[in-house]
Amino acid sequence: MVDNGHTIQVNAADKDSYIMLDGEKYTLLQFHFHHPSEHQTDGKNAEMELHLVHENAKGEKAVVGVLIHPGASNPVIEQLWSHLPDPANTDGETLDTPIDLLALLPQNLHAVHYDGSLTTPPCSEHVNWSVLEEPITLSQAQIDLFAQRFPDNHRPVQDLGKRALNGDG
Ligand SMILES: [Zn+2]
Repeated sequence: MVDNGHTIQVNAADKDSYIMLDGEKYTLLQFHFHHPSEHQTDGKNAEMELHLVHENAKGEKAVVGVLIHPGASNPVIEQLWSHLPDPANTDGETLDTPIDLLALLPQNLHAVHYDGSLTTPPCSEHVNWSVLEEPITLSQAQIDLFAQRFPDNHRPVQDLGKRALNGDG
């Protein structure tokens, strides 16, 4: 886990975690956080957003976005924030306990899909986005801890243009 100056990023230590999208396997590379959220529901940002960045064998990216609302404390975030690396520590912190990724996600994994781009440079096109409909919660203290370090690390929403939103039912 590193503080790369833009966000707190947790890099996968192995290639064991993956998602299946249209029959294609995308392996988890890393996940990171934004404050406030980059996606909006009904024109409103959520407090934060989690991005899980995956890649298939062809090097194509698929990102799962999870909106974060204030509420109950999240045990996985508790585990992460208790090892929060110092910004000066460019090597980051190695977590000695595996992260239960499913515990980081909501129960309902229905998602809205669209073709977009990465929100951080190089903003490469053709990223498969899946934004989960159900948010997760962090306690206000957990949100505040991140917000103190990153008061605003989100990219404002872009015009939908010709892109289509598709629910996966
Ligand atoms: Zn992101």
